[in-house]
Amino acid sequence: MMTEICNFCQALYWRNELNSSNKYTKYCHDGKVRLPNLAETPDLLKELLTNNSIEARNYQHHIKEYNAAVAFASMGAEVKAPPGNGPYCFRIHGQIYHRIAPLYSDERFKPGYGQLYIFDASEANSRRLENNPSCLSSVMEKLDALLRTINPYAESYFQMHQLIQSNPTINVK
Ligand SMILES: [Zn+2]
Repeated sequence: MMTEICNFCQALYWRNELNSSNKYTKYCHDGKVRLPNLAETPDLLKELLTNNSIEARNYQHHIKEYNAAVAFASMGAEVKAPPGNGPYCFRIHGQIYHRIAPLYSDERFKPGYGQLYIFDASEANSRRLENNPSCLSSVMEKLDALLRTINPYAESYFQMHQLIQSNPTINVK
């Protein structure tokens, strides 16, 4: 059991994790590193993660699909499993990168990711449900509404869209 506590940040330590000055303070460098508290989890997510309703159970069952459906980017990396047998290990080679779609779709890019936040909500959700048929429309709508309210990237996409609508020659980055 982690029985030792840092007097600065209240981090828990195992008994043998003493630093060179025999204290349990290495994570915060003797109180020099202070991290802001994590933001409170939105009520919607708390409900979906803990309730036993049809919506909550569907969310818990298909959480990866929901995550992908409302994501702004997908992760790219060369995944290289270590040779031989053993426990699951996620190993990558080289660089991790994020794939994001252009602001507007064309023949090459189907609308997806951040782009969906410039569509109106019902249009965005029908696109998401097409790609994720196991998800519930009611849950998807609530997640979309939440993200449009609290996510700064959703706001950025929408703002870029508005700027381009008002001046199509403008160069936004
Ligand atoms: Zn500490």
